[in-house]
Amino acid sequence: MTDASGQGPETAGAGDLFWWRRDVRPGVTAAFTQVAAGNLAFHVGSDDDAVRRHRAALAAAVGAERVQYMEQVHGSATVWAEEGGNAPVADALLSEGVPVAVMVADCVPILLAGQLDDGRPALGAVHAGRAGLVAGVVTAAVDAIRGRGASGVEAWVGPSICGRCYEVPAALRDEVSALAPGTASTTSWGTPALDVPAGVLRELDALGVPSHTDAIACTLEEPRLFSHRRAPGEGRFVGVVWSHG
Ligand SMILES: [Zn+2]
Repeated sequence: MTDASGQGPETAGAGDLFWWRRDVRPGVTAAFTQVAAGNLAFHVGSDDDAVRRHRAALAAAVGAERVQYMEQVHGSATVWAEEGGNAPVADALLSEGVPVAVMVADCVPILLAGQLDDGRPALGAVHAGRAGLVAGVVTAAVDAIRGRGASGVEAWVGPSICGRCYEVPAALRDEVSALAPGTASTTSWGTPALDVPAGVLRELDALGVPSHTDAIACTLEEPRLFSHRRAPGEGRFVGVVWSHG
């Protein structure tokens, strides 16, 4: 999907909050932040005041009183933001309009948008790292949002460590690729690797969910994005999707 009014990695400045931002359907915007937006995760680093400031700035940019986050545990639990309380333990946060966010720094962030029977949006923010993909978080999230009656669900996949950078032991590559087809890869220096975004895209395709890839970049290679492998503890950026009038 192209939208000339949207920002993308090709046009966003290094000082902008967002790495990529787009009006993905009428009244719904999806975005991924970059390093300039600051660390948005309390569980990383020690400066909680800074995280509060960064989250407040993001909420202001989104035009909402609050953005709902989750406590991510590399599992496959799904929670509806309107029912889950503050920071529910989950790896897929769905909503009927509340802005929802997923924090990442190498794992794959996925944003979902569909339409409920009454015309309101159904939104989702999904945390799909290696463990989450194997645990089935992508299918769980799509099943949950469709289970509420959402139709026309589409996915926007954000930046993560790429299949040429995510080096793993050969045994782990074999184990994961047996469970998540399409993930076996080789690093640019010739060692065993995993391509988690490739596995995510394959699973979305199998579910019949159209996916958009123009926000994808490699977190390890792109200094404007946080990467746990490149700089552990530096921070997390987020994927966030919200509805507006
Ligand atoms: Zn890479």
